[in-house]
Amino acid sequence: MKCDFLVIGGGIAGASAAARLSDLGHVVLLEMEEALGYHASGRSAAMFEENYGPAPVVALNRASADYHYNANGGYLTPRGFMLVAGPTQAEDFARDVEELNLNPIAIEDAYARVPILNPETVTLAALHETAQDLDTDRMIQDFAKSLRANGGKVVTRAEVTNIERGPTGWQVLAGGTQYEAAQLVNAAGAWVDQIAALAGVQPVGIQPKRRSMARLPAPGGHDVSTWPMLMGVGESWYAKPDAGKLLVSPAEADLVVPHDTFADDMVLAEGLARYEEMVTTPVTRVESNWAGLRSFSPDGSLVLGPDPDQPDFIWCAGQGGYGFQTAPAAARLLADLVGGKSSEFDAQICAALAPDRLR
Ligand SMILES: Cc1cc2nc3c(=O)[nH]c(=O)nc-3n(C[C@H](O)[C@H](O)[C@H](O)COP(=O)(O)OP(=O)(O)OC[C@H]3O[C@@H](n4cnc5c(N)ncnc54)[C@H](O)[C@@H]3O)c2cc1C
Repeated sequence: MKCDFLVIGGGIAGASAAARLSDLGHVVLLEMEEALGYHASGRSAAMFEENYGPAPVVALNRASADYHYNANGGYLTPRGFMLVAGPTQAEDFARDVEELNLNPIAIEDAYARVPILNPETVTLAALHETAQDLDTDRMIQDFAKSLRANGGKVVTRAEVTNIERGPTGWQVLAGGTQYEAAQLVNAAGAWVDQIAALAGVQPVGIQPKRRSMARLPAPGGHDVSTWPMLMGVGESWYAKPDAGKLLVSPAEADLVVPHDTFADDMVLAEGLARYEEMVTTPVTRVESNWAGLRSFSPDGSLVLGPDPDQPDFIWCAGQGGYGFQTAPAAARLLADLVGGKSSEFDAQICAALAPDRLR
Protein backbone atom coordinates (compact mmCIF):
# COMPACT_ATOMS: atom_id res chain seq x y z
CA MET A 1 0.00 0.00 0.00
CA LYS A 2 1.47 3.36 -1.05
CA CYS A 3 0.89 6.75 0.53
CA ASP A 4 2.47 10.17 0.99
CA PHE A 5 2.38 10.12 4.81
CA LEU A 6 2.39 7.03 6.99
CA VAL A 7 1.45 8.03 10.55
CA ILE A 8 2.42 5.56 13.28
CA GLY A 9 0.24 5.77 16.41
CA GLY A 10 -3.52 6.13 16.77
CA GLY A 11 -3.72 8.33 19.86
CA ILE A 12 -4.67 11.99 19.83
CA ALA A 13 -1.22 12.96 18.46
CA GLY A 14 -1.40 10.63 15.47
CA ALA A 15 -5.10 11.22 14.76
CA SER A 16 -4.77 15.02 14.79
CA ALA A 17 -1.56 15.00 12.73
CA ALA A 18 -3.09 12.58 10.22
CA ALA A 19 -6.17 14.79 9.82
CA ARG A 20 -4.12 17.93 9.15
CA LEU A 21 -1.63 16.17 6.85
CA SER A 22 -4.50 14.75 4.80
CA ASP A 23 -4.91 18.26 3.36
CA LEU A 24 -1.43 17.81 1.83
CA GLY A 25 -1.51 14.26 0.52
CA HIS A 26 -2.66 10.68 0.95
CA VAL A 27 -2.36 9.58 4.60
CA VAL A 28 -2.51 6.14 6.24
CA LEU A 29 -2.74 6.00 10.04
CA LEU A 30 -1.45 2.80 11.66
CA GLU A 31 -2.46 1.70 15.18
CA MET A 32 -1.27 -1.54 16.78
CA GLU A 33 -4.31 -1.93 19.08
CA GLU A 34 -7.88 -2.82 18.09
CA ALA A 35 -9.11 0.75 18.45
CA LEU A 36 -7.82 4.32 18.46
CA GLY A 37 -7.03 5.90 21.82
CA TYR A 38 -6.32 2.69 23.74
CA HIS A 39 -3.17 3.92 25.56
CA ALA A 40 -2.50 7.40 27.06
CA SER A 41 -5.27 8.98 25.01
CA GLY A 42 -7.92 6.73 26.57
CA ARG A 43 -6.75 7.35 30.14
CA SER A 44 -6.43 11.11 30.59
CA ALA A 45 -8.11 13.54 32.96
CA ALA A 46 -9.60 15.28 29.91
CA MET A 47 -8.91 18.86 31.01
CA PHE A 48 -8.14 22.02 29.10
CA GLU A 49 -6.18 24.31 31.44
CA GLU A 50 -4.42 26.74 29.18
CA ASN A 51 -1.83 27.88 31.75
CA TYR A 52 -0.60 24.34 32.47
CA GLY A 53 2.82 23.43 31.07
CA PRO A 54 6.14 25.03 30.09
CA ALA A 55 6.03 28.19 27.92
CA PRO A 56 6.05 26.47 24.46
CA VAL A 57 3.23 24.19 25.66
CA VAL A 58 1.22 27.16 26.93
CA ALA A 59 1.64 28.76 23.49
CA LEU A 60 0.19 25.60 21.89
CA ASN A 61 -2.63 25.47 24.48
CA ARG A 62 -3.63 29.07 23.75
CA ALA A 63 -3.43 28.58 19.99
CA SER A 64 -5.69 25.52 20.38
CA ALA A 65 -8.38 27.33 22.38
CA ASP A 66 -10.43 28.50 19.41
CA TYR A 67 -10.59 24.96 18.03
CA HIS A 68 -11.61 23.54 21.43
CA TYR A 69 -14.33 26.16 21.82
CA ASN A 70 -15.72 26.17 18.30
CA ALA A 71 -14.73 23.29 16.01
CA ASN A 72 -17.51 20.77 15.31
CA GLY A 73 -19.79 22.43 17.87
CA GLY A 74 -17.00 22.71 20.49
CA TYR A 75 -15.43 20.15 22.81
CA LEU A 76 -15.55 22.05 26.12
CA THR A 77 -17.76 22.06 29.22
CA PRO A 78 -17.08 24.56 32.04
CA ARG A 79 -15.29 23.00 35.00
CA GLY A 80 -12.93 25.46 36.79
CA PHE A 81 -9.66 24.63 38.51
CA MET A 82 -9.01 25.18 42.24
CA LEU A 83 -5.63 24.98 43.96
CA VAL A 84 -5.84 24.23 47.70
CA ALA A 85 -3.17 24.43 50.40
CA GLY A 86 -2.71 24.20 54.15
CA PRO A 87 -1.25 26.58 56.72
CA THR A 88 2.35 25.36 56.25
CA GLN A 89 2.24 25.53 52.44
CA ALA A 90 1.99 29.29 51.86
CA GLU A 91 5.26 29.52 49.93
CA ASP A 92 4.44 26.63 47.56
CA PHE A 93 0.93 28.02 47.17
CA ALA A 94 2.27 31.45 46.11
CA ARG A 95 4.60 29.81 43.57
CA ASP A 96 1.81 27.71 42.02
CA VAL A 97 -0.57 30.69 41.93
CA GLU A 98 1.98 32.65 39.94
CA GLU A 99 2.96 29.78 37.64
CA LEU A 100 -0.61 28.83 36.82
CA ASN A 101 -1.86 32.43 36.76
CA LEU A 102 -4.61 31.68 39.34
CA ASN A 103 -6.79 34.08 41.33
CA PRO A 104 -6.56 33.65 45.13
CA ILE A 105 -10.08 33.51 46.61
CA ALA A 106 -11.55 33.89 50.13
CA ILE A 107 -11.33 30.53 51.85
CA GLU A 108 -15.05 30.69 52.78
CA ASP A 109 -15.85 30.82 49.05
CA ALA A 110 -13.77 27.67 48.54
CA TYR A 111 -15.66 25.84 51.35
CA ALA A 112 -18.99 26.97 49.85
CA ARG A 113 -18.02 25.72 46.40
CA VAL A 114 -16.58 22.38 47.59
CA PRO A 115 -18.25 21.51 50.92
CA ILE A 116 -15.95 18.56 51.69
CA LEU A 117 -12.83 20.76 52.07
CA ASN A 118 -11.47 20.37 55.60
CA PRO A 119 -11.23 23.81 57.32
CA GLU A 120 -8.46 22.48 59.56
CA THR A 121 -6.15 21.51 56.70
CA VAL A 122 -7.26 23.74 53.81
CA THR A 123 -6.63 27.40 54.57
CA LEU A 124 -5.66 28.79 51.15
CA ALA A 125 -7.39 28.48 47.79
CA ALA A 126 -7.05 29.97 44.31
CA LEU A 127 -9.21 29.53 41.25
CA HIS A 128 -9.02 29.60 37.48
CA GLU A 129 -12.62 29.72 36.34
CA THR A 130 -12.02 29.13 32.62
CA ALA A 131 -10.49 25.63 32.93
CA GLN A 132 -12.73 23.23 31.00
CA ASP A 133 -13.57 19.57 30.58
CA LEU A 134 -12.62 18.27 27.13
CA ASP A 135 -14.60 15.68 25.17
CA THR A 136 -11.47 13.67 24.35
CA ASP A 137 -13.13 10.67 22.74
CA ARG A 138 -15.09 12.82 20.31
CA MET A 139 -11.92 14.78 19.49
CA ILE A 140 -10.10 11.63 18.37
CA GLN A 141 -13.08 10.30 16.44
CA ASP A 142 -13.63 13.65 14.69
CA PHE A 143 -9.98 13.86 13.62
CA ALA A 144 -10.26 10.31 12.24
CA LYS A 145 -13.48 11.33 10.46
CA SER A 146 -11.82 14.29 8.76
CA LEU A 147 -8.87 12.10 7.76
CA ARG A 148 -11.28 9.65 6.10
CA ALA A 149 -13.25 12.49 4.48
CA ASN A 150 -9.98 13.53 2.77
CA GLY A 151 -9.48 10.01 1.40
CA GLY A 152 -7.15 8.86 4.21
CA LYS A 153 -7.23 5.47 5.85
CA VAL A 154 -7.16 4.22 9.46
CA VAL A 155 -5.73 0.73 9.95
CA THR A 156 -5.98 -0.84 13.44
CA ARG A 157 -4.33 -4.09 14.62
CA ALA A 158 -1.35 -2.90 12.57
CA GLU A 159 1.75 -3.05 14.72
CA VAL A 160 4.79 -1.64 12.97
CA THR A 161 7.50 -4.28 13.28
CA ASN A 162 9.99 -3.37 10.55
CA ILE A 163 11.06 -0.14 8.88
CA GLU A 164 13.55 0.13 6.03
CA ARG A 165 14.58 2.66 3.46
CA GLY A 166 13.66 1.58 -0.05
CA PRO A 167 14.65 3.19 -3.37
CA THR A 168 11.51 5.42 -3.40
CA GLY A 169 10.76 5.98 0.28
CA TRP A 170 10.12 4.19 3.55
CA GLN A 171 9.15 0.50 3.51
CA VAL A 172 7.14 -0.37 6.60
CA LEU A 173 5.81 -3.74 7.70
CA ALA A 174 2.73 -3.53 9.94
CA GLY A 175 0.24 -6.28 10.80
CA GLY A 176 1.48 -8.43 7.91
CA THR A 177 1.03 -5.69 5.27
CA GLN A 178 3.85 -3.86 3.52
CA TYR A 179 3.42 -0.07 3.25
CA GLU A 180 5.47 2.37 1.20
CA ALA A 181 5.50 6.05 2.15
CA ALA A 182 7.37 9.16 1.13
CA GLN A 183 7.29 10.47 4.71
CA LEU A 184 6.98 8.71 8.06
CA VAL A 185 5.28 10.44 11.01
CA ASN A 186 6.28 9.11 14.41
CA ALA A 187 3.33 9.63 16.81
CA ALA A 188 3.74 6.41 18.79
CA GLY A 189 3.46 8.01 22.25
CA ALA A 190 5.61 6.17 24.79
CA TRP A 191 7.07 4.06 21.94
CA VAL A 192 8.43 6.89 19.75
CA ASP A 193 12.09 6.21 20.49
CA GLN A 194 11.57 2.52 19.69
CA ILE A 195 10.05 3.51 16.34
CA ALA A 196 13.01 5.82 15.68
CA ALA A 197 15.44 2.99 16.47
CA LEU A 198 13.56 0.67 14.05
CA ALA A 199 13.93 3.33 11.34
CA GLY A 200 17.62 3.91 12.05
CA VAL A 201 16.91 7.42 13.34
CA GLN A 202 18.61 8.73 16.48
CA PRO A 203 16.14 8.76 19.42
CA VAL A 204 15.37 12.08 21.17
CA GLY A 205 15.18 10.71 24.73
CA ILE A 206 11.43 10.51 25.41
CA GLN A 207 10.66 9.41 28.98
CA PRO A 208 7.34 7.64 29.64
CA LYS A 209 6.04 8.43 33.13
CA ARG A 210 3.16 6.58 34.75
CA ARG A 211 0.22 8.45 36.29
CA SER A 212 -2.58 6.60 38.09
CA MET A 213 -6.22 7.35 38.69
CA ALA A 214 -8.90 6.04 41.08
CA ARG A 215 -12.64 6.41 40.63
CA LEU A 216 -14.52 6.98 43.92
CA PRO A 217 -18.24 7.19 44.65
CA ALA A 218 -19.36 10.82 45.10
CA PRO A 219 -17.98 11.75 48.55
CA GLY A 220 -20.70 12.09 51.20
CA GLY A 221 -23.33 11.55 48.50
CA HIS A 222 -22.78 15.14 47.27
CA ASP A 223 -23.73 16.27 43.80
CA VAL A 224 -20.17 16.82 42.55
CA SER A 225 -21.13 17.92 39.03
CA THR A 226 -20.46 21.63 39.62
CA TRP A 227 -17.25 21.23 41.61
CA PRO A 228 -14.04 22.44 40.02
CA MET A 229 -11.03 20.22 39.53
CA LEU A 230 -9.05 20.34 42.81
CA MET A 231 -5.28 20.19 43.05
CA GLY A 232 -2.86 20.02 45.98
CA VAL A 233 0.16 22.35 45.86
CA GLY A 234 3.15 21.11 43.90
CA GLU A 235 0.76 18.87 41.90
CA SER A 236 0.84 16.39 44.81
CA TRP A 237 -2.67 15.02 44.02
CA TYR A 238 -5.75 16.10 42.11
CA ALA A 239 -9.45 15.28 42.08
CA LYS A 240 -12.00 15.79 39.36
CA PRO A 241 -15.74 15.13 39.06
CA ASP A 242 -16.57 12.63 36.33
CA ALA A 243 -20.08 11.43 35.51
CA GLY A 244 -21.34 11.71 39.10
CA LYS A 245 -18.17 10.18 40.60
CA LEU A 246 -14.86 11.65 41.72
CA LEU A 247 -11.57 10.79 40.03
CA VAL A 248 -8.57 11.13 42.33
CA SER A 249 -4.99 10.91 41.09
CA PRO A 250 -1.78 10.68 43.14
CA ALA A 251 -0.35 12.79 40.27
CA GLU A 252 2.79 10.68 40.23
CA ALA A 253 5.33 10.86 37.42
CA ASP A 254 7.16 7.56 37.82
CA LEU A 255 9.63 6.75 35.05
CA VAL A 256 8.85 3.39 33.38
CA VAL A 257 9.53 1.57 30.12
CA PRO A 258 6.84 1.76 27.41
CA HIS A 259 4.11 -0.79 28.24
CA ASP A 260 0.37 -1.24 28.74
CA THR A 261 0.52 0.27 32.20
CA PHE A 262 -1.68 -0.12 35.29
CA ALA A 263 -1.97 1.61 38.67
CA ASP A 264 0.55 0.85 41.40
CA ASP A 265 -1.47 0.00 44.57
CA MET A 266 0.98 1.62 46.97
CA VAL A 267 1.32 4.82 44.93
CA LEU A 268 -2.47 5.00 44.66
CA ALA A 269 -2.94 4.51 48.42
CA GLU A 270 -0.39 7.21 49.25
CA GLY A 271 -2.03 9.63 46.81
CA LEU A 272 -5.49 8.94 48.19
CA ALA A 273 -4.10 9.64 51.69
CA ARG A 274 -2.80 13.06 50.52
CA TYR A 275 -6.28 13.85 49.13
CA GLU A 276 -8.02 12.52 52.26
CA GLU A 277 -5.96 14.82 54.47
CA MET A 278 -7.57 17.84 52.82
CA VAL A 279 -11.22 16.69 52.96
CA THR A 280 -13.74 15.70 55.63
CA THR A 281 -15.01 12.57 53.83
CA PRO A 282 -12.88 9.43 54.20
CA VAL A 283 -12.24 7.20 51.18
CA THR A 284 -14.23 4.03 51.89
CA ARG A 285 -14.27 2.46 48.45
CA VAL A 286 -12.37 2.65 45.16
CA GLU A 287 -14.69 1.61 42.33
CA SER A 288 -11.99 1.22 39.70
CA ASN A 289 -8.49 2.36 38.89
CA TRP A 290 -6.16 2.65 35.92
CA ALA A 291 -2.97 4.35 34.79
CA GLY A 292 -1.53 5.88 31.66
CA LEU A 293 1.87 6.95 30.39
CA ARG A 294 2.65 10.63 29.98
CA SER A 295 5.69 10.81 27.71
CA PHE A 296 8.05 13.74 28.15
CA SER A 297 11.02 15.07 26.20
CA PRO A 298 14.08 16.01 28.29
CA ASP A 299 12.94 19.67 28.52
CA GLY A 300 9.22 18.86 28.92
CA SER A 301 7.99 20.39 25.64
CA LEU A 302 6.61 18.61 22.58
CA VAL A 303 8.89 17.46 19.75
CA LEU A 304 7.37 18.52 16.43
CA GLY A 305 8.77 18.49 12.92
CA PRO A 306 11.24 16.80 10.57
CA ASP A 307 14.25 15.00 12.03
CA PRO A 308 17.38 17.14 11.46
CA ASP A 309 19.34 14.22 9.93
CA GLN A 310 16.52 12.40 8.11
CA PRO A 311 13.91 15.06 7.20
CA ASP A 312 11.42 12.53 5.79
CA PHE A 313 11.06 11.18 9.35
CA ILE A 314 8.68 13.54 11.17
CA TRP A 315 8.51 13.69 14.98
CA CYS A 316 5.15 14.20 16.71
CA ALA A 317 6.18 13.27 20.24
CA GLY A 318 6.59 14.30 23.87
CA GLN A 319 2.94 15.28 24.45
CA GLY A 320 3.45 14.78 28.21
CA GLY A 321 0.37 15.77 30.21
CA TYR A 322 -0.86 18.10 27.48
CA GLY A 323 -1.61 15.92 24.44
CA PHE A 324 -5.27 16.87 24.11
CA GLN A 325 -5.07 20.51 24.99
CA THR A 326 -2.21 21.10 22.53
CA ALA A 327 -3.38 18.80 19.71
CA PRO A 328 -5.18 21.23 17.39
CA ALA A 329 -2.31 23.75 17.23
CA ALA A 330 0.41 21.09 17.37
CA ALA A 331 -1.09 19.31 14.35
CA ARG A 332 -1.39 22.61 12.44
CA LEU A 333 2.25 23.46 13.19
CA LEU A 334 3.36 20.00 12.06
CA ALA A 335 1.47 20.31 8.77
CA ASP A 336 2.87 23.82 8.19
CA LEU A 337 6.43 22.61 8.80
CA VAL A 338 5.98 19.63 6.50
CA GLY A 339 4.14 21.65 3.86
CA GLY A 340 6.75 24.43 3.90
CA LYS A 341 4.18 27.04 4.97
CA SER A 342 4.95 29.86 7.38
CA SER A 343 3.72 29.08 10.87
CA GLU A 344 1.38 31.05 13.16
CA PHE A 345 4.11 30.66 15.84
CA ASP A 346 7.19 32.84 16.09
CA ALA A 347 10.68 31.46 15.46
CA GLN A 348 11.43 31.13 19.17
CA ILE A 349 8.45 28.85 19.84
CA CYS A 350 9.15 26.78 16.70
CA ALA A 351 12.77 26.33 17.83
CA ALA A 352 11.62 25.33 21.34
CA LEU A 353 9.52 22.55 19.79
CA ALA A 354 11.93 21.43 17.03
CA PRO A 355 13.63 18.01 17.23
CA ASP A 356 17.10 19.45 16.59
CA ARG A 357 17.12 21.18 20.01
CA LEU A 358 17.52 17.69 21.52
CA ARG A 359 20.59 16.71 19.47
C1 LIG B 1 -3.68 10.13 34.05
C2 LIG B 1 -3.46 11.07 32.88
C3 LIG B 1 -4.08 12.32 32.87
C4 LIG B 1 -3.94 13.17 31.79
N1 LIG B 1 -4.66 14.33 31.74
C5 LIG B 1 -4.59 15.12 30.65
C6 LIG B 1 -5.40 16.28 30.54
O1 LIG B 1 -6.19 16.58 31.43
N2 LIG B 1 -5.30 17.05 29.41
C7 LIG B 1 -4.43 16.73 28.39
O2 LIG B 1 -4.36 17.46 27.40
N3 LIG B 1 -3.65 15.62 28.47
C8 LIG B 1 -3.71 14.83 29.57
N4 LIG B 1 -2.94 13.70 29.64
C9 LIG B 1 -1.94 13.47 28.60
C10 LIG B 1 -2.53 12.91 27.34
O3 LIG B 1 -3.35 11.80 27.64
C11 LIG B 1 -1.36 12.48 26.45
O4 LIG B 1 -0.48 13.57 26.24
C12 LIG B 1 -1.84 12.02 25.09
O5 LIG B 1 -2.85 11.07 25.21
C13 LIG B 1 -0.67 11.43 24.30
O6 LIG B 1 -1.18 11.05 23.05
P1 LIG B 1 -0.32 10.20 22.05
O7 LIG B 1 -1.13 10.03 20.84
O8 LIG B 1 1.03 10.82 21.94
O9 LIG B 1 -0.05 8.80 22.82
P2 LIG B 1 -0.98 7.51 22.90
O10 LIG B 1 -2.38 7.83 23.16
O11 LIG B 1 -0.30 6.57 23.83
O12 LIG B 1 -0.92 6.95 21.42
C14 LIG B 1 0.22 6.35 20.88
C15 LIG B 1 -0.26 5.16 20.07
O13 LIG B 1 0.83 4.59 19.36
C16 LIG B 1 0.55 3.22 19.21
N5 LIG B 1 1.76 2.51 18.86
C17 LIG B 1 2.89 2.40 19.61
N6 LIG B 1 3.79 1.61 18.99
C18 LIG B 1 3.22 1.24 17.81
C19 LIG B 1 3.66 0.42 16.74
N7 LIG B 1 4.86 -0.19 16.74
N8 LIG B 1 2.82 0.23 15.70
C20 LIG B 1 1.59 0.81 15.68
N9 LIG B 1 1.13 1.60 16.67
C21 LIG B 1 1.94 1.80 17.72
C22 LIG B 1 0.01 2.83 20.59
O14 LIG B 1 -0.75 1.65 20.55
C23 LIG B 1 -0.81 4.05 20.96
O15 LIG B 1 -2.19 3.89 20.70
C24 LIG B 1 -3.08 12.80 30.71
C25 LIG B 1 -2.45 11.56 30.72
C26 LIG B 1 -2.64 10.69 31.78
C27 LIG B 1 -1.97 9.35 31.75
